[in-house]
Amino acid sequence: MRYNLFLTAALLCLSPIAYGQTTSADIRKANLPSANPTNAEIFTPVPNVVTPAKTFGQAPSDAIILFDGKNLNEWESVKDQSPAKWKVSKDVLTVNKSVGDIETKRKFTSFQLHIEWKIPADITGTSQARGNSGIFLSSKYEIQVLDTYNNDNKTYTNGMAGAVYRESIPLVNPAHKAGEWNVYDIAYQAPEFNEDGTVKVPAHVTIFFNGVLVQNNTEIRGATSTTVKHVYTAHGPMPLKLQAHGDKSEPISYRNIWIRE
Ligand code: MG
Repeated sequence: MRYNLFLTAALLCLSPIAYGQTTSADIRKANLPSANPTNAEIFTPVPNVVTPAKTFGQAPSDAIILFDGKNLNEWESVKDQSPAKWKVSKDVLTVNKSVGDIETKRKFTSFQLHIEWKIPADITGTSQARGNSGIFLSSKYEIQVLDTYNNDNKTYTNGMAGAVYRESIPLVNPAHKAGEWNVYDIAYQAPEFNEDGTVKVPAHVTIFFNGVLVQNNTEIRGATSTTVKHVYTAHGPMPLKLQAHGDKSEPISYRNIWIRE
């Protein structure tokens, strides 16, 4: 008896069911049409070959380089579409608060974005007035940039770095301290709209913040606003926008910005 129990347990462990495979018995029981195993093997389309960067964080071969430290050729002023006038120095782009937001000349739908940012070491201010900037996906949905290192700067948590601004709190806070570079790797699925302009599928975003997951396929509820409920307005491909926030704290910097459509 004991032997039989042992044998049954051993057989169960070894059976395909224990490994989650569908057996011929399962197929009979569920009345599934039996299929040739090769039917599930797909040969086209063949994924494009992409050469990854030699150093993690650098752009792979199919990325569009939006800023590599040299110039702002890919960017323009939001205000009047004139050439972007933020400061470029030593491979770094620094916000120029007096000239306002900048955006890419190119328009994008869904994408993967890599962007690095740094709060200056001499940052001052509190809450939302301490190193505030932001990355606006489709020019409308803000991923917050702010000095919230170690939760020292008290503010509303859906306004912290790594938040979908005024919507979704980051899962954790992996921010580096002021003076050190941070990295966002963002996978953004743009919203889809019906012909009458209503939302068919809302936007979703996944964010790795310094390699740590902080937004996991988070649904975006609408365009960022501080004054009204977030709602969607139908749009197509849009620029990527960077925020020149009007607070008095020292301007933050960006570097190494690339995107893959
Ligand atoms: Mg902001």
